[in-house]
Amino acid sequence: MESHFYIREIIHYFLHLVFPIVIAKVFFKNNWKHAYFLLLATMLVDLDHIFANPIFDPNRNSIGYHPLHTYPMIALYFLGAIFLKKNYRIVAIGLLFHMFTDFQDFYFWK
Ligand SMILES: [Zn+2]
Repeated sequence: MESHFYIREIIHYFLHLVFPIVIAKVFFKNNWKHAYFLLLATMLVDLDHIFANPIFDPNRNSIGYHPLHTYPMIALYFLGAIFLKKNYRIVAIGLLFHMFTDFQDFYFWK
């Protein structure tokens, strides 16, 4: 196991759990708690891992592998973050950021 393993884990969960507070506070000041809840809820996108074997593998790149983590889906989240309104937009932003989190988790730690 590599020496930076724990730092990688901490950053991953920081991006999944804590950083959305920053996004919510900056972009949705007036109802940031509501926005934060929706951003957290986008973690449900990882349910697509159920179709993978093994379900979790730290050495596998989620991006482009799991059905909801593929590039066409990411393009949809991106469009959604621009064109959708209100709650749907928050969810799209959360999904996009989730993809970034998974992306960095693989590519920044090789
Ligand atoms: Zn994911």
